[in-house]
Amino acid sequence: MEKIKLGISTCLLGENVRYDGGRKLDRFLTDTLGQYVEYVPVCPEVECGLPIPRESMRLEGDPEFPRLITSKTKQDMTERMLSWAKKRVVEIEKEGLCGFIFKSDSPSSGMERIKVYNEKGMPVKKGVGMFARIFMEHFPLLPVEDEGRLHDPGLRENFIERIFALRRWREVLHSKQSRGSVVDFHTKHKLLILSHSPKHYQMMGMLVAKAKDLPIKELYQQYQTILMEALKLKITTKKNSNVLMHMMGYFKEQLSSDEKKELLEVIDFYRKSHIPLIVPITLINHYVRKYDQPYLKQQAYLNPHPLELQLRNHV
Ligand code: SF4
Repeated sequence: MEKIKLGISTCLLGENVRYDGGRKLDRFLTDTLGQYVEYVPVCPEVECGLPIPRESMRLEGDPEFPRLITSKTKQDMTERMLSWAKKRVVEIEKEGLCGFIFKSDSPSSGMERIKVYNEKGMPVKKGVGMFARIFMEHFPLLPVEDEGRLHDPGLRENFIERIFALRRWREVLHSKQSRGSVVDFHTKHKLLILSHSPKHYQMMGMLVAKAKDLPIKELYQQYQTILMEALKLKITTKKNSNVLMHMMGYFKEQLSSDEKKELLEVIDFYRKSHIPLIVPITLINHYVRKYDQPYLKQQAYLNPHPLELQLRNHV
């Protein structure tokens, strides 16, 4: 399987590009996720022409429109960074990225809660790194995270699930376009979408139902937009529990009363956060195989990303 292309802040790969000549190697990103991902590194400060090492920088002024200023000599790097970033995001379009992992806390690369200093030198954590802002404005629907947030098991699972889903969607986009391909993708992703948003699940169902009446380009465009919006919404234990109960309905005829009782217990333990999601999922996968359940067998929700990443062992 072709690797997923992801943009990443270069220092997270262990390159010595930071202002002090250091790096911020993240082993999960390089060694674990890296097995499935081809990274496209971007270091805004070095790529806009600054040396290594260099003076550190910070955001100053209005958190909505901050300036990028060097900490000691107070040189204003804003225009330099902005004009480089605007060109770089256009170049990045060609890469076909499925997402971006930013370095947290950086005035150039951080995606949220970056310190912005006011005229009295007091910081508020309301800023966005200068390159990260341009990137997110240019690619509003692409999955983005920072390495700090990815230490949270729920956010990590969500992000990685989204990039794998986007990659599968891109395969549909790049193969011969047909209404049937959209319907097929949708059928396989119904429960995954439901686990993010029952509302979007309904909207997409309605869109696919009228697929024949829409010009094909419009169908693809609308479907992609709603899909990306849906996947952006975080999965919760409650939403997962609903999907698990929904899946149980497909076995109504086949499960023995003992099996039903066991599955209900396991879902309830998960709902109460006594066990991780992987437990009910494994049991349901077992019944899918045992009873050869044709609809569930093809659901991406049951296998959204490689098991080896162990993402559902911790949520
Ligand atoms: S945080 Fe961003 S600008 Fe700073 S070294 Fe890393 S990639 Fe470069």
